[in-house]
Amino acid sequence: MNIDSPEAEELTSNQKRDLLFNVNQSLELSLQKFDNEWWPLVSNIWMGFNFKKKNGDTTTTYTCHLTKCKQSSERKEGVPSNKRRKTKIRPPNLCFAKIKVTRFFQEGKVKIERFPDSPNHMHSLEESDKVKQPQIIRNLVVQEAIKNYRPPAILNAVKEYASEKMDLGTSVKELRLKEVTNIKYKVCGALDAHLIDSTHKTNRYDYRLFTLYIRNGYGCWDVGAHFFVSNEDSDTISEALKIVRRFVRNWKPRYFLQDQSNIEEKSIKLAFPGLINGEQECEVIFCTVHLQRTWMHKIYEVDTRKKMTQAMYKWTRIGVTSTNALESFHSELKRTTSPQHGIIGACHKITTLDQKKREDSDFVSFEFRIKKISVMGVDEEILQEIHKFPFPVQKMLTEEACAVEK
Ligand SMILES: [Zn+2]
Repeated sequence: MNIDSPEAEELTSNQKRDLLFNVNQSLELSLQKFDNEWWPLVSNIWMGFNFKKKNGDTTTTYTCHLTKCKQSSERKEGVPSNKRRKTKIRPPNLCFAKIKVTRFFQEGKVKIERFPDSPNHMHSLEESDKVKQPQIIRNLVVQEAIKNYRPPAILNAVKEYASEKMDLGTSVKELRLKEVTNIKYKVCGALDAHLIDSTHKTNRYDYRLFTLYIRNGYGCWDVGAHFFVSNEDSDTISEALKIVRRFVRNWKPRYFLQDQSNIEEKSIKLAFPGLINGEQECEVIFCTVHLQRTWMHKIYEVDTRKKMTQAMYKWTRIGVTSTNALESFHSELKRTTSPQHGIIGACHKITTLDQKKREDSDFVSFEFRIKKISVMGVDEEILQEIHKFPFPVQKMLTEEACAVEK
């Protein structure tokens, strides 16, 4: 079936979920529709395990989330019944369903097909929803969690909205308070940090280049946005920040770290008015390196400095206290740009470096989550268990395993 056909447009969320549950016919969708509208509906059903790249296109094989390769450990004999763990044992090999998703980047299309000889799921869609909710529901929870409501209130709001407005009643019925609480912890526990800084001499008009730098969940810095301004006052900069916001509607930074410019601070406050608009408060924090430079001039007492630095760490709770990362991005950029370039030339250089940064941070998350270690001489069964961990942990475990096998 092709997405451009008229009947595909009229499918309800539930129908789309069914099509991507037991994939009985191959589907072709535009990349954008797949990523934004279809996949978030079924992300909880499938688990990617094999990623291949060929001529720029990628193929990922997904297995059902309820696949289990190994028998759970049996109850130990001789444990008194009141000390037994009250857990249900999921039978192994519960489900063998597999699909293949190929992304054709040049055509802007995705093909979803059943893996050769893959059976249907051994269970209902509800069983999958019970274990974990699809991304689309989890996103709703995130939206509410940002407002810092209590988990029971979030649960109610999401259940109501999903069933009344999104035709996802059957799925959201299985949403549990525990999952909501976990998501809220993820959102509010890991505060995102934003850096803002500017640099000059990247083009012949001497427009200032501003860069927003955002730290992802793996502690990597990634480029959020760039903008040029001809005039460096707070109204102009806040206008630019507002334009960026229009592109990314749910951009709700919690902290902004910057060097010591009052103009930047004022413009951030203008662009993110916070609670006045019923939004999350956004705090502007000054970069400690820059602050320290000023203190060196003004304050000589070491104790005062220490206290201030400690306060800063405590305040952000994220361990990010300097704009150094962004400064080094700008100095790397200076190597390829020149004060003789036009704006378009400058943009080309910027996007090239952006791409490099993005690849670096994608690489880190790939290394962390998806990459699977391969080792000679380690029992296949043990290796399968090891692969369930993030890559850095896999490395540690295989070293241990090798030591044991010797
Ligand atoms: Zn299944």
